[in-house]
Amino acid sequence: MARLEVDSLTKSYGGVRALSETSFEVHAGEVFGFVGSNGSGKTTTMRILLGVLEPDSGEVRWEGSPLDREVRRRIGYMPEERGLYPRMKVGDQLAYLARLYGLDTAAARDAVEQWTARLGLSERVGDEVQKLSLGNQQRVQLAAALMHAPDILVLDEPFSGLDPVAVELMSQVLREEAARGVPVLFSSHQLDLVERLCDRVGIIKNGRMVASGTLDQLRRTEHPQWIIDGPSSAGWLNGVDGVQVLETDGARTTVEVRRAGAEQQVLQAAMAAGPVREFAPARPSLTDLYRDVVSTDDGQEGEQ
Ligand code: ADP
Repeated sequence: MARLEVDSLTKSYGGVRALSETSFEVHAGEVFGFVGSNGSGKTTTMRILLGVLEPDSGEVRWEGSPLDREVRRRIGYMPEERGLYPRMKVGDQLAYLARLYGLDTAAARDAVEQWTARLGLSERVGDEVQKLSLGNQQRVQLAAALMHAPDILVLDEPFSGLDPVAVELMSQVLREEAARGVPVLFSSHQLDLVERLCDRVGIIKNGRMVASGTLDQLRRTEHPQWIIDGPSSAGWLNGVDGVQVLETDGARTTVEVRRAGAEQQVLQAAMAAGPVREFAPARPSLTDLYRDVVSTDDGQEGEQ
């Protein structure tokens, strides 16, 4: 299957190590969320992908071969610092970019019409970019990335500053592009959004990938966790071996089960102590995971 492989990228700016052996994969048809705090190396990775920066070592491959000019022309990129011409009209600007990507005049006009309609910009085609709200400028930027029906989509913080309606629209478009078979890579700080939207997630810290995989893979805990909504204070758990209480919040208790089958004894003990309203496996959210992997002291410098 076609896939984008980022393989062991290392990059320093002068004495500052921005990336250390960063690797991950984005498969065709998949939305990949690239998560990390400011300065962790996301933009540097994307710029290397685009060919704007050279890595010190490592490479990026598409369908098994290193990215060349031809493949890079087929990437749709939405940069973080939005690169639109403020005084150019929306329609002219998009048509111009489409022509740069090699579309003929008629195809460029069609692409402008299609994407301005899809992104709710039809009424703005004749307006100068600088007259648009920031949210609408971002929609134009997304349209710009999509003009040439790219084979690969790379978006740097596409959701930042968007209102909920625009967030929903952006999410739908990214999913549609993935459904068309495009690998979609985007960076974001909004973990709930990443959790909702992505098939696969990579967490980067100080230029190193500290976790990467499907959400299911990342959420798998070493020992299963269970939530019991029932008798309060968890004193009822005394006497059940192989179970550790992780959290109690009123009547809700979260336990980690370290002995196979011990959850059945947990349930019995809870029911013996009072009514049980809920007994269910607990899975950590992406926010929990992020907190865990990013706060783990790995001997590197702290977060910025
Ligand atoms: P992110 O996109 O995750 O915020 P970046 O890739 O922009 O992270 O930055 C990674 C690290 O590289 C940071 O420490 C940043 O200060 C540094 N860096 C980025 N661009 C440059 C540059 N042009 N010159 C020097 N240092 C840079």
